[in-house]
Amino acid sequence: MTARTISILGATGSIGASTLDLIRREKNKWRVVALTANGNAAELATLAREFGAEVAVVADEARLPQLREALAGTNIHAAAGTSALTEAASRPADITVAAIVGCAGLAPTMAAIENGGTIGLANKESLVSAGEVLTKAVARHGATLLPVDSEHNAIFQCLAGNDLEHVRWITLTASGGPFRDWSHDQLIQATPAQAVKHPNWDMGAKISVDSATMFNKGLELIEAFHLFPVGLERLRIIVHPQSIVHSMVEYRDGSTLAQLGPSDMRVPIASTLAWPQRMDTPCEPLDLAQIGTLTFRAPDEERFPATRLARQAAEAGGGIPAVLNAANEIAVAAFLAGQLGFTRIAAHVEDVLSGFAPPAPATLEDVIALDAEARHRALALMEPV
Ligand code: NDP
Repeated sequence: MTARTISILGATGSIGASTLDLIRREKNKWRVVALTANGNAAELATLAREFGAEVAVVADEARLPQLREALAGTNIHAAAGTSALTEAASRPADITVAAIVGCAGLAPTMAAIENGGTIGLANKESLVSAGEVLTKAVARHGATLLPVDSEHNAIFQCLAGNDLEHVRWITLTASGGPFRDWSHDQLIQATPAQAVKHPNWDMGAKISVDSATMFNKGLELIEAFHLFPVGLERLRIIVHPQSIVHSMVEYRDGSTLAQLGPSDMRVPIASTLAWPQRMDTPCEPLDLAQIGTLTFRAPDEERFPATRLARQAAEAGGGIPAVLNAANEIAVAAFLAGQLGFTRIAAHVEDVLSGFAPPAPATLEDVIALDAEARHRALALMEPV
């Protein structure tokens, strides 16, 4: 059997680590083409050596000497910068896992799409910002986009190739994050350390904060809107604190299919890597008798306005979702740096969106320019705590 080839964009992150953990368990079945990071050259070099990657790329050019030194004596090509990142992403591979955080992942993801390959998409921000541009490129280049995000992976599995015409509802489940039971007054005091401590999932800092504000679910709503075009009115969100049911599809005959699994990203990643087959994971089997109770409740958009803002952005369409995403990235970075209060994140995104009516982006370059403009606006409107 010939080994399958894989590239991992964002290899040093949480999704990168989970993906490499699965690959490590079946090393003889995989050959690693490209591994990338932002600035963590030491970890990237360690991984590139372990997996015998063809190329290792850091986005931050200042880290190239360190990467080169750490890879000295190997045949691994070391490179840096955004064009090197795009070049690495465009190398042919059987599957490219897009796991860079934020809109920084957009151009590399597009490069992989333009190759017409299979992309395991974790980088939801790129689909939020450039939904139509990306989905059109997928169709034009005959690429295959497989959702890694646990909710979208669940929906993909529940749809199982069925006609979207038969779908009545797609329901995204949300854990509700670490603050789901906090009052508004408590939320005002929430700290970065508390926000990144997710009760069920172990994730990178940005998505953990998104989960706490519910922007993660808002971004996922827009992601689902592009991946599963049933119309926004058929997409809904339900809070499910146990994170066991990862999402559901209700068909017109009243049948609801749900996908269940442990709160471990290796499950949806494995489903993507092996698709349309299945592969083993080291995850504990689901013990529903021990879990005992699964609960569900409606989201509270008073305390967590992010899902309302995201739905409005999806309704408005054009460049608005890209502005929402950019403003949120800036607000989350400011919150993590102690410069913005927790409840100001959504308020700030709303301020940035207010009165801003950019033209709809038609190309990747348009989206990148709009993203930069929205970031600039978000920074200019920032009021320190
Ligand atoms: P992490 O913060 O853990 O990792 C991010 C990765 O992206 C790292 O490899 C980082 O490199 C790299 N990176 C960061 N900034 C840049 C940049 N400007 N240019 C190039 N590379 C960059 O994030 P996660 O793994 O948690 O999340 C990755 C993506 O997957 C996000 O879009 C997230 O929403 C999505 N996702 C994550 C889930 C999870 O469980 N973690 C679940 C579902 C979706 P370095 O280490 O050098 O900084």
